[in-house]
Amino acid sequence: MHTLHGIGCSEGFSEGSVLVKRSIRPEQLERPAKTAEEELQRLEDSRRALDERLEALYDKTLSESGEEAAELIESYQMIAMDQPLFDRIRAKIRDGLSAPAAVRQVLEQEKSVFDAMEDVYLRERYADIEAVAHELIALCCGVSGALSGVELRGPTIVVADALTPVDTVNLDKKFLRGFVTEAGGTTSHAVILARTLGIPAVVGVQDITGIAKTGETICINGGDGTVLLSPGEREKAAFDLAAAEYRRGKERYEKEAPGPAFTKDGTRILLAVNSGDSDTADALSPAVCDGVGLFRTEFLYMKEEDYPDEETLFNAYRAAVVRMAGKPFIFRTLDIGGDKALGYMQLPREENPFLGYRAVRICLDRPALFRTQLRALLRASAYGAVQIMFPMITCLEELLRCRAALDEARSQLDAEGAPYRKDIPVGIMVETPAAVLVLDQLAPHVEFFSVGTNDLVQYLMAADRGNPQVQGLYDSFQISVLRALRHIGTVARQHGVALGVCGETASSTAMVPFLVGCGVEELSVAASALPRLRYLVRRLNRQDCEEAARTAVNLPSAKQAKEFLCRFAQHSMEEAE
Ligand code: PEP
Ligand code: MG
Repeated sequence: MHTLHGIGCSEGFSEGSVLVKRSIRPEQLERPAKTAEEELQRLEDSRRALDERLEALYDKTLSESGEEAAELIESYQMIAMDQPLFDRIRAKIRDGLSAPAAVRQVLEQEKSVFDAMEDVYLRERYADIEAVAHELIALCCGVSGALSGVELRGPTIVVADALTPVDTVNLDKKFLRGFVTEAGGTTSHAVILARTLGIPAVVGVQDITGIAKTGETICINGGDGTVLLSPGEREKAAFDLAAAEYRRGKERYEKEAPGPAFTKDGTRILLAVNSGDSDTADALSPAVCDGVGLFRTEFLYMKEEDYPDEETLFNAYRAAVVRMAGKPFIFRTLDIGGDKALGYMQLPREENPFLGYRAVRICLDRPALFRTQLRALLRASAYGAVQIMFPMITCLEELLRCRAALDEARSQLDAEGAPYRKDIPVGIMVETPAAVLVLDQLAPHVEFFSVGTNDLVQYLMAADRGNPQVQGLYDSFQISVLRALRHIGTVARQHGVALGVCGETASSTAMVPFLVGCGVEELSVAASALPRLRYLVRRLNRQDCEEAARTAVNLPSAKQAKEFLCRFAQHSMEEAE
């Protein structure tokens, strides 16, 4: 029995069996070699394990997917039996390399040979060698590789050193009950996805992949970050009690009558949902919300093996818009980069991806990519209330270039006679400090602002949203963040620009009164948070919220601001009961 603590970042209680998923760390590959005999033995053991894995995979593929699919595994088996290839790996080990490093070097040599081939078919066979080599390296390092897959067989909580958004997208949601990671901040995209799917998640749990064993029982509280491994009877009973209490609170919110949310003094606050991955896009429903406040279009690109074409995008956008039956639907244009990588884009490795090549910086450099998406979005607007939003805007020039790209797509569709909505509202994410400082220049060119607090907090506080070591600073209650939010509210009001918040802050019970007090008119959140927010908004008084916001920005610390706003939210809810 172990009790561990991390940062709870997607609320809820869940129980399942552990599946440990570890990625290969560079230091494992670079670990000094032991004696040549030991490294050769490591290679042989890994090769035997690889053979067994491939044989099992072949049988499974044959029975589940047929002969053609099984042929691929057969070709992997051939590579795993390639004697000359293994002789070269062994020679490198005898020269002093570790087994995984030797496999990697031979793979690099193979790559240059294949890259020089003229025949495209043969050149592409390199992918098979790469797949087998990666699996072998993983086995040499004692971790599971991609070929072994992460097939979930029952209620499972994935325990990983780190999870990329792509890993998360590929996990079978039928059995996924939550995840716990060593790395990852509270607004990493894997976490956002968990919240969107209503799955509890805990991040920043030190060494859990070394402590947890695949198959053992695990209970997690995604609210306070507690993780129990093989809990004893007493711990399990306490966990069940807390879970039951959490569920009772949830039921109370869910009993709240559906329909629009007005504050007690009559201000309408739109409650919209964040979506984008196919699971939540399929579940969109106009009955539970006032629209879609953020559709992260990059998830669709992440599902594909290559750039999706205009028809694929158009069909997906149209289906989502039709599902929302005329309710406002904000599509954010491609925001790839940062922690969202796209293999087929072949973007260069960056030292600081969050400060690098991302979002409109890429789209403006690749007009064809941008145009394809903008055309698909415009065409989908013929089927619903589409709005278009540009991410990561930092200056007026960038916004004008995005608008020009949109105008160009419009002209093309006009020339083709393709229908689209002429008066599509256009907006931007306000998520860089640069945008906050020139908001008055941006305002005349947009219909709405949507504050992306996930990024705004990291850029304002110079604290990586994915780094648990700086999560103390990465805090939306920091006074500088509160002041930025209040300033955004003031500029939006002065210019008559609609104002929403679509970062994770929008679902924080303590932050909502502050946001309402700043003039925020729309909160866009994971669907699971909607009942709680509807319950809360209906118990707020906007004028009191304005007063609270004025007070909060002058408090001396994030801790005091958080305590003050928590008390305010609590009182508002209790007073009304
Ligand atoms: C944000 O930055 O707050 C946001 C909503 O965008 P993302 O989390 O996708 O960067
Ligand atoms: Mg962002």
